Amino acid sequence: MTTNKEKFTCLIVGTGFAGLAMAIKLKELGIEDFILLEKAGDIGGTWRENTYPGAECDIPSALYSYSFEPYPDWEYKWSMQGQILSYIKYVAEKYDLYQHIHFNQEMTGARWQADHNTWVIQTADGSQYESQHLITAIGQLHHPSIPDFEGKEAYEGVSFHSANWDHEVSLEGKTVGVIGNAASAVQFIPAIAKTAGAVKIFQRSANWMLPKQDRMYKKWEKNLVRRFPLLLKLYRLRIWLLGGALFMLMENKNNWLRNLYQKKSIRFIKEHLKDPDIIALLTPRFPMGAKRILFSDTYYPALTRPHVSIIPDNIERIVASGVQVEGQKVHPVDILIYATGFVTNPFLMGLDIVGASGRTIREAWSEGHQHYKGISIAHFPNFFMMYGPNTNLGHNSIILMIEAQASYIARCIHHVLENKLSSIDVQEAQMIAYTQSVQKRLSGMIWANIDDSWYKSEKGDLPNNYPGRTMEYMRETRGIDWSAYNLV
Ligand code: NAP
Repeated sequence: MTTNKEKFTCLIVGTGFAGLAMAIKLKELGIEDFILLEKAGDIGGTWRENTYPGAECDIPSALYSYSFEPYPDWEYKWSMQGQILSYIKYVAEKYDLYQHIHFNQEMTGARWQADHNTWVIQTADGSQYESQHLITAIGQLHHPSIPDFEGKEAYEGVSFHSANWDHEVSLEGKTVGVIGNAASAVQFIPAIAKTAGAVKIFQRSANWMLPKQDRMYKKWEKNLVRRFPLLLKLYRLRIWLLGGALFMLMENKNNWLRNLYQKKSIRFIKEHLKDPDIIALLTPRFPMGAKRILFSDTYYPALTRPHVSIIPDNIERIVASGVQVEGQKVHPVDILIYATGFVTNPFLMGLDIVGASGRTIREAWSEGHQHYKGISIAHFPNFFMMYGPNTNLGHNSIILMIEAQASYIARCIHHVLENKLSSIDVQEAQMIAYTQSVQKRLSGMIWANIDDSWYKSEKGDLPNNYPGRTMEYMRETRGIDWSAYNLV
C-alpha cells in the first residue's frame, strides 16, 4: 500500500491505446506532471489481455495505429495480437511513458474534494493518489461474460473464457466445445481446428461475414513506405475512406446497399460450403450491420473440415460431460471454451466515482448514460472519459476516436492550467441536450432494429455506439465550446 502525498496534475487510468494516447497528448502541450495507473503488471489493455490463438484485429493496422506514429513494419495488412502489443510497447518506449506508469494499481474508486479541487483516487491494495484531473481510459469490453447456464459448475472438463485463455491446456486431439461464434470465436476456431480432435461450435445465431483478403506485405512495399512516408499516409487515408463507406450499411435508410452486401456475404458462404443445410445455418436472420460485421478468410474454410461441426440447437444446461441442448441430447466435450463476449454496458458503473454532488456515476446514470461527447459528465469536475458512452464504432478504427478525445481532453486541461482555473465541469443542460440528440439519431440506425445485440442496453437505448462517421466526431471535438462548461 502506498499513499502518494504528492499531488499530480493528471492521473490517467489504463495503459491501453487510449491511456497512452492521452499521456502523449498531455506531453505535447507541455504537461509532464501526470501518472498512469495500470491494474496489471504490463501495458497494452485489450491487446495484453486477449491472447487466444489467432487473436488479431479486424481493422487494418495502417489505420489501427496512431496517426502520429505510422509504422512501416506491419507484417500483415491485419495484424496479430503479438505485433499490435509490440507496437504499443514501442510507442510507450519512444514517448518515454514507462516512467509515469504505476503498475499493479487497480483503481476502485475516486472522490472529488471540493475544498481542494482535486480527486482522491483509491486502488485495490488500499493506496491513495491525489490529482487535479482524473481521466479514465479503461476501455468498453474487459469484463468477460459467461452466461448463467444451469449446471455450469457441474462440468468436469476444463473450461475457460476466450479472454482468459488457458495456454497450459493442450487441445491436441481433444474434443473442444465452443459456445459463441462472433468476433472472438471466428478468430480462434480456425486456429484450434488445426490441432483439436473435434470442434463443436454451439451457435445461437449466425453472423454476417465478409472476406478479409488479408495478406503479408512484401519487403519492397515496406521499403517503399519507409522511404516515402507520404505513401503510408495515403494508404491509411484510403482504408479510412473505405471504412467510412461501410458506415452506410449501418444507416436504416440504405437498404439497397445492405441487400447488395448481404448477397455478397451469402455468395462468400457458398464459395466455401456447398451443403444447403449448412448454408441456411450460416445465413443470418437479422439485417447486416445491426451487429458487428465479421471479417475472416479462415472461418468458413475451417467449417469445411470434417471434424468441425456447428450445433444450432439451444443450450439447455451444462452437464458433467459436456453440453446438453434442447431435445435432451448431450454433446460430450473435453474442453469447453466460452466465446460469449463481455459485460458491455457497465462503462464506469463498477467503480465508486463520487462527484461534486455526492452522487456516484452509477447513481447519476441510473436512468441512462448521460454524457457530453462521450467525454464529460455534469457534476464531475476535472473528470474526463476516454472511449466513454456513444463513442464505439462498428465501421472504422477506434483509434481515430481515441486520438480525438485525447487531444480534446488535453486542451481542456491545458486551458484550466493556463488560466489558473480550479475546475471545468460540463453544464447539465448541455449534457442532456447532447445525449438526447445522440439517442435521437441512433433511432435511425440499424442497431436500433434488433434486441439481441450487445449494442443495446437492458433499457432499450444504445449506450455504446456513435451515430456518425469518425470524420464527424473529429470535427465535433476539434474546437471546444467553452460556453458549454462551468469554468471556475
Ligand atoms: P460477442 O460479440 O458478444 O459474441 C458473443 C457470442 O456468444 C455470440 O455468438 C453470442 O450469440 C454467444 N452467446 C452469448 N450468450 C449466449 C448464450 N446464453 N447461449 C448461446 N450463445 C451465447 O463477443 P466477442 O466475440 O468476444 O466480441 C465482442 C466484441 O469484442 C466485438 O463485437 C468487438 O467489438 C470486440 N472484438 C474485436 C475484435 C477485433 O478484431 N477488433 C476481435 C474480437 C472481439 P448471439 O450472437 O446469438 O448473441
